[in-house]
Amino acid sequence: MSERTVYDVAVIGCGPAGLSAAINVKVRNRTVVVLGTEVCSPPLNKAPRIENYLGFPGVAGAELRDNFVEHTTSMGIEIKRDKVDAILPEDDGFMITTREEVIRAQTVVMATGIPYRPRLRGEAEFLGRGLSYCATCDGPLYRDKDIAIIAHSTEAEVEANYMAEICRQVFYLPLYDGMANLEPEIKVIEGKPTRVIGDNTVTELHLGEERLKVDGVFIVGAETPPESLFPGLKMDNNHIAVDRNMQTSIPGLYAGGDCTGPPYQVAKSVGEGQIAGLNAAKLVVAKRSKRKPK
Ligand SMILES: Cc1cc2nc3c(=O)[nH]c(=O)nc-3n(C[C@H](O)[C@H](O)[C@H](O)COP(=O)(O)OP(=O)(O)OC[C@H]3O[C@@H](n4cnc5c(N)ncnc54)[C@H](O)[C@@H]3O)c2cc1C
Repeated sequence: MSERTVYDVAVIGCGPAGLSAAINVKVRNRTVVVLGTEVCSPPLNKAPRIENYLGFPGVAGAELRDNFVEHTTSMGIEIKRDKVDAILPEDDGFMITTREEVIRAQTVVMATGIPYRPRLRGEAEFLGRGLSYCATCDGPLYRDKDIAIIAHSTEAEVEANYMAEICRQVFYLPLYDGMANLEPEIKVIEGKPTRVIGDNTVTELHLGEERLKVDGVFIVGAETPPESLFPGLKMDNNHIAVDRNMQTSIPGLYAGGDCTGPPYQVAKSVGEGQIAGLNAAKLVVAKRSKRKPK
């Protein structure tokens, strides 16, 4: 598809909910793209045996996951391994920005899994005031400054190397095993970050007794909270608020799966993904017939 393509539906997340949404959009003959991270469905991948998914007693989570991915791609649906940073409303649809590109779609299904919750003291308080989840987006604000990157996965290494080009000092705090590709000027700090403090904006990151004086803190490689992907999205008890049609508070934006709340289960995710996908496809058709000259 070309850069100016507007998909009928963009699905964010390639777990059971997202893939179920995508195949149902395709069955309804609408165009669809799936945007996911490197591993589709980390939770399902970790599940040793699934005993309660109808028709597949005792199946390994990884096997079920592989079947879901295979089913989806065999229908000609593209899964782009590209993390979404933001969803923005625009005329008659949405603009989705990822690490790699900008994608346009008339409707969106969010299927991003269990929402990431702030874990550090001060994290929620300083979000947007020196604390960010996206170095690529906010990095230029920290030119010639000192920053810390709290890294949840190797994905953060690319961001750290970019920040090292523009910042005075980058501290890197890896919270995962197997760090591989960091530029030598980046200072690796071992230890567990505990707290962000500051005045109007961030001034320090604490690791227990140790303090790093920094102008910014980036938390990278963890899931992005849904309300940061689409500011103003209505939440309900830390999950995306939806009605029975899986419609969120934003017209044209649907959600399904763990991101809408418990029970966190495959069957519920597949079912909600289906409802979200079908309703997104239906809305596209309704919009199109409204535009047709009478
Ligand atoms: C150890 C374990 C055992 C389990 N056992 C069972 C069981 O026996 N039975 C059962 O029914 N369930 C079980 N589950 C739960 C089940 O795995 C989940 O309910 C299910 O995977 C949820 O599907 P989902 O599509 O909503 O979310 P996920 O599977 O979490 O998929 C969400 C996807 O979205 C991606 N994503 C998130 N943010 C972005 C972004 N910004 N851009 C692009 N992609 C993004 C994520 O990387 C992920 O690939 C188990 C889970 C675990 C961890």
